[in-house]
Amino acid sequence: MNDTLDWLDGHALALDEGDVAAGQALLGRLGRSGLLRVGVPAAQGGTGGSLGDAVDAIAQVARHSLTAAFVCWGQRAFIEYLLQSPNAALRERALPGLLGGEEAGATGLSNAMKFLSGLEQLGVRAFGAGPWTLQGRVPWASNLGTRFCVALAVARDDGAPPFVVAVPADRAGVARSADLDLIALRGSQTAALTLADVPIDDADVIHPVAREFLPRARPAFLGLQCGLSIGLAEAALGAAREHLGPARAVLGTPLTDAEAALAAHRAELLQGLAEGRFLADAPALFRLRIALAQDVQQALQLELLASGGRAYHRDQPLGFARRWREAAFIPIVTPSLSQLQGELAKLAA
Ligand SMILES: Cc1cc2nc3c(=O)[nH]c(=O)nc-3n(C[C@H](O)[C@H](O)[C@H](O)COP(=O)(O)OP(=O)(O)OC[C@H]3O[C@@H](n4cnc5c(N)ncnc54)[C@H](O)[C@@H]3O)c2cc1C
Repeated sequence: MNDTLDWLDGHALALDEGDVAAGQALLGRLGRSGLLRVGVPAAQGGTGGSLGDAVDAIAQVARHSLTAAFVCWGQRAFIEYLLQSPNAALRERALPGLLGGEEAGATGLSNAMKFLSGLEQLGVRAFGAGPWTLQGRVPWASNLGTRFCVALAVARDDGAPPFVVAVPADRAGVARSADLDLIALRGSQTAALTLADVPIDDADVIHPVAREFLPRARPAFLGLQCGLSIGLAEAALGAAREHLGPARAVLGTPLTDAEAALAAHRAELLQGLAEGRFLADAPALFRLRIALAQDVQQALQLELLASGGRAYHRDQPLGFARRWREAAFIPIVTPSLSQLQGELAKLAA
């Protein structure tokens, strides 16, 4: 594990800037470290523990590299879908390669989560009555290594309710774009997918009813995602404390307050996940995701103020500039802050 964290420290900038070799090596590294098995029952090939332990594992990675943590999230979320799927054959077939990091699991479910909130139509459609052919486009999916499988929610032409499927990269009709030209997290192997007459059948179905499955998967999807914010905020607050120096008198109290707020939000998240509270109370999880995103912004401000001009030097490896770019991802990853605020406003009305 320590080897992997050292490797991440040495490659965090390369992963952010899109070094191809580092991006390709990342998932295998995460797999070999055992991180992807945390919170997965031993009977399924994991090392046991809770979903909260998996959140902490993602946070630990995010303290070193948000690119790595996001890839870890996508992979771990995909694993969670299989754990919650009634399709045991698919789970048994796919889990070993996913847990070991030899196969990549891509979560193309932003569109599905927006669909669930009534924000957009599903971008992929199934034709036929089983087996089916898929048509459509996935504008964003990360963790698209050489051997990936992507989870998608799909509308059905026969009028049946949308379902959730796993589509492997080597299936006829699947086309991956070049990596998107992003400002950060460039090593996350993020691209668009086009599906043209892609054949699928029952063996590929993660769940037959998306509207049942997605709300059930959402606490894991969102909870694990919160690990990104927790780890990034912890890293920035740690750097702020390290560089406090002459600003101690002014920044000491806000820094202590920010550390306490972050710790309280993390504790509330882990407790809610352990109690299964967010299945019935999704707004509580939405509010925590928003609060943690605010913790990240506050942590970066404090790191900047504590470091001063040194943070602005490219030739001093403080890591601030990378974290600043990484932080820009937190408010927009689905569900985005504005989307969550909209959901909360709708519920309040
Ligand atoms: C590095 C990176 C990796 C990504 N990887 C993946 C991935 O692996 N899988 C995946 O599925 N997606 C992925 N995405 C997509 C991402 O999660 C978001 O879906 C995407 O950034 C939001 O789409 P948009 O900005 O095109 O939204 P738009 O629909 O164009 O909306 C623009 C903004 O308005 C907000 N908005 C839209 N409608 C509403 C509304 N009704 N109420 C309130 N706010 C609204 C949106 O949230 C967004 O902030 C990735 C994005 C990035 C940057």
